[in-house]
Amino acid sequence: MRTMFNSFKKRLSLKKVKRSEPPCDDDLQSKRELFFKSDTVSGGGVSASVPPSAAPPAPPSTLKDALSKRSATLPEPQETNHVEANGIATKHSNSVSVDVSKPPSTAPPPTPAPPVPISAPPAPVPTPLRSTENIMKKAEHPPVAPKPDLPKIEKPKTKELDGYVGFANLPNQVYRKAVKKGFEFTLMVVGESGLGKSTLINSLFLTEVYDKDKHPGPSLRVKKTVGVETSVVLLKENGVNLTLTIVDTPGFGDAVDNSNCWQPIIDFVESKYEEFLNAESRVARKAAPPDTRVHCCLYFIAPSGHGLKPLDVEFMQRLGDKVNIIPVIAKADTMTPEECKDFKEQIMKEIGQHKIKIYDFPESTGEEGDGADVTKSLRARVPFAVVGANTVIEQDGRRIRGRKYPWGIAEVENLEHCDFLALRNMVIRTHLQDLKDVTSSVHYENYRCRKLAGLSHDGKPHRTNSNNLCPQGLMNSFMTVWNPLAQMEEEKREHDLKMEKMESEMEQIFQTKVRDKRAKLKESEAELARRHEATRRALEAQARELDERQRALNAERAAWERDTGLSLDDLRRRSLEANSKETVDGKEKKDKKKKDWSFKSVATGISI
Ligand code: GDP
Repeated sequence: MRTMFNSFKKRLSLKKVKRSEPPCDDDLQSKRELFFKSDTVSGGGVSASVPPSAAPPAPPSTLKDALSKRSATLPEPQETNHVEANGIATKHSNSVSVDVSKPPSTAPPPTPAPPVPISAPPAPVPTPLRSTENIMKKAEHPPVAPKPDLPKIEKPKTKELDGYVGFANLPNQVYRKAVKKGFEFTLMVVGESGLGKSTLINSLFLTEVYDKDKHPGPSLRVKKTVGVETSVVLLKENGVNLTLTIVDTPGFGDAVDNSNCWQPIIDFVESKYEEFLNAESRVARKAAPPDTRVHCCLYFIAPSGHGLKPLDVEFMQRLGDKVNIIPVIAKADTMTPEECKDFKEQIMKEIGQHKIKIYDFPESTGEEGDGADVTKSLRARVPFAVVGANTVIEQDGRRIRGRKYPWGIAEVENLEHCDFLALRNMVIRTHLQDLKDVTSSVHYENYRCRKLAGLSHDGKPHRTNSNNLCPQGLMNSFMTVWNPLAQMEEEKREHDLKMEKMESEMEQIFQTKVRDKRAKLKESEAELARRHEATRRALEAQARELDERQRALNAERAAWERDTGLSLDDLRRRSLEANSKETVDGKEKKDKKKKDWSFKSVATGISI
């Protein structure tokens, strides 16, 4: 066992040597930096910068356009150099800009491509996170980690190239890889049943994500208690795959007593972070563990016109620092534009009063000119007052998705009627990547810090880890997570458990096979006995028949003897006598013939 463990350790150390390439070191370093920096940044923000996601460019008409537009959305090479030099790896996942609405054909532009002018990078300024508060702020004794003395490397100068080298094609490589890999997004919908959640999801993705047979909407599955259920659909648009996971919470707010009805939702969100943390902290981990974290939560507010209900306030307060909440006013067609405007103002006022953290759409998405203005105007529409409809109505030759009333049609995709388009554009077209980035760099990091500090989801010390709040305790928790030996032990334990499980499974299989074999043997034994019995019976019947025939023959013989007055023995004797007489007669005749021949041959002089 010891030798096995040693060889396992050796293998691990080999793996570690392989892994110690700069990007992974940087990654680890960045995690440490992030951990230690989180409490030094004013406002409690974690130090990871969140570059605003770029809005997808319009479909490139020419190759040059495509290259220049895509490269504009990517981090520039000098910046990466600088980042590596400081040992802080920044996630550039949002640099992959895919025009989901009308992406260019997936075939990448061929090389050589025209050189793309690269402007000098701006001085890297750590962008504070948009999270208003960080959980680390709550820790009374933040850990003070010694900052490693990193060698200062001068910023490289931009040099003019004499010709086209080809690294301008890098964005295309990233683009191709991202398209090939596909995208994953998890959207949670929360709200009382009947507020139009399923209808809105179907309208958002222009497909029956919820259909009555396969995935009935949450209200069709109303439960007595709040449940959290997921449905996964694979959507494909112009060759780009999106694995969309819809998390819904049937039963939310439907009970008479709704206290703690948010708890299953908090547990679900945190379980996803936990899964991700475990996958990330394994010694043998995947390059990109599957991201099942909840990236966005659409919270449906009933169109009461009076403001938020206590349940709305409680839910958003509790979930605001765990997930990106986007408040949505359901069934906006039930309000007049003035009522809707007042209602929105009231909601925003209450959100401010109760210090509720909702997802803050970044003002800039990297677009300039009209694009940026449009983003700004759409951003001002929060909370989005939406109308959902699954019916398409024909009017003046136009096909409109909307709700038809005697006095007119409430068009879903009309910004003058509701904010549906604003919501869809912001969530899917322009900010989907940002939602994922904020989930990863704010909410997940907060969870990670809480976990390392031994705090529970409400920021209070975890009962089992209460002394971990001091810097040493915090450090210990940190070391437990990042200590390779502890991890090795943990993985060894897991491996042993796995082996034990496999052994017991094999034992079970063996037992089942033995049982099967025994049953088969018993069956064939029974079959043999059955056949033996059948043969025995057949032979007995045959013997009986023969006896019968023997008896019949004997009776026949006795009758014949009686009739003829001869016995069978007499007859036999006579027959023998007759036979012997015939034999004797035949012999005499033969001798006589022989004599005649010899006489003739003597006369002719021929010897026979
Ligand atoms: P869920 O339980 O939240 O999933 O709600 P559903 O999507 O099943 O919708 C419940 C009812 O509300 C259905 O009859 C829908 O047709 C209707 N509905 C959905 N969206 C809207 C809307 O925007 N306005 C109005 N007036 N009714 C809607």
